[in-house]
Amino acid sequence: MLYTKLPSGIRVSRLGFGAMRLPTLTIGDKEFVDVERATAMFHRAFELGVNYVDTGFMYNNDESEFVVGSAIEQWPRKDEITVTAKCTKFRMARPGDLRRMLEHQLWKQRRSYFDYYLFHGVGWENWHEIDARTGWIDEMAQAKSEGLVHRVGLSFHDKPEALLKLLDTGLMELVTLQYNYLDRANEEVIAAAHARGLAVVVMGPVGGGRLAVIPKGLREAGTLSTANAAELALRFVLANPNVDIALSGMSALEQVEQNCAAVDKGPLNAAEVGQVNQLMAQNRALADLYCTGCEYCLPCEHGVAIPRVFEAVNYLKVYGMEEHARALYKRLVENSSDASQCVACNTCLVRCPQHIPIPDQMEEARALFG
Ligand code: SF4
Ligand code: SF4
Repeated sequence: MLYTKLPSGIRVSRLGFGAMRLPTLTIGDKEFVDVERATAMFHRAFELGVNYVDTGFMYNNDESEFVVGSAIEQWPRKDEITVTAKCTKFRMARPGDLRRMLEHQLWKQRRSYFDYYLFHGVGWENWHEIDARTGWIDEMAQAKSEGLVHRVGLSFHDKPEALLKLLDTGLMELVTLQYNYLDRANEEVIAAAHARGLAVVVMGPVGGGRLAVIPKGLREAGTLSTANAAELALRFVLANPNVDIALSGMSALEQVEQNCAAVDKGPLNAAEVGQVNQLMAQNRALADLYCTGCEYCLPCEHGVAIPRVFEAVNYLKVYGMEEHARALYKRLVENSSDASQCVACNTCLVRCPQHIPIPDQMEEARALFG
């Protein structure tokens, strides 16, 4: 296993165990964590050197933390495991809620403190809105001063510029955020966070399982040292010198073993990163020829999410990422914003600076995705 030293001085594995997709079993008509299988996964990961676990209040229907706590308690070298937990913004209603949640989470996990405790899924606006309602920023500071929380951080879901403002507060010591070889929007703020001494933890290195195939072009070139798509994604993220940990939300024992083996091979080398970057840039340029995502065509009165439809088409036709494209399109269908909603009213045509024949393309998209 590869390790790194976080700015706090804690030595952690570069692969983190994301405990949000633990295996489940069905009892009656409900899903529960399969404790036996999940515990075996944690113990195998620890055996292979993983010593960073990321969990959150709501993961696996609020059950994740119980299983994380009991798995770590059974592990003989439990003090070597660093745990990051998160309070959820969705259950912050009134003053005292952060403290009550924190105490409950410590009880669930059988711990007296968290190494890192994060504001979960915040951006600049909602972080302040929730604070106005609950005073959670002061409560977090109080918990830290009492030693219940050793370090404070955030998991971030907002525009990159919002992270810079959150960093300016000086409160944060760790950020968990989205980054993978396709989604590079956070690349600059990752560098900024690292430069300011924060630990940087990447979630979604394999795009939530969406980057399930090696993109067209890299596949054909066959010059990468990666055995599979997940390995490519993980090793790409770890090649970024500003990233400390890549999290993987693991749900099967084989995945634990594969991910550990992937990280053991080390980050992609500079030539490989260059190759991925070059191909992604070429693909992006090709995709931009069609649709830049400017959204000038919106709103469509019939609800078509035009740029999202083109995004799905590009993933399929340009990047050759069939599974991801189909998953994206399926979400559009579920929201009734897919190409089949188009009635060819032509309203959007005049708004598109790329002069894309949108209604015709919608028909093509409909045929493409069936
Ligand atoms: S042509 Fe289709 S996509 Fe464009 S505005 Fe009309 S219904 Fe919407
Ligand atoms: S206006 Fe044209 S380029 Fe812009 S998002 Fe819509 S379809 Fe794409």
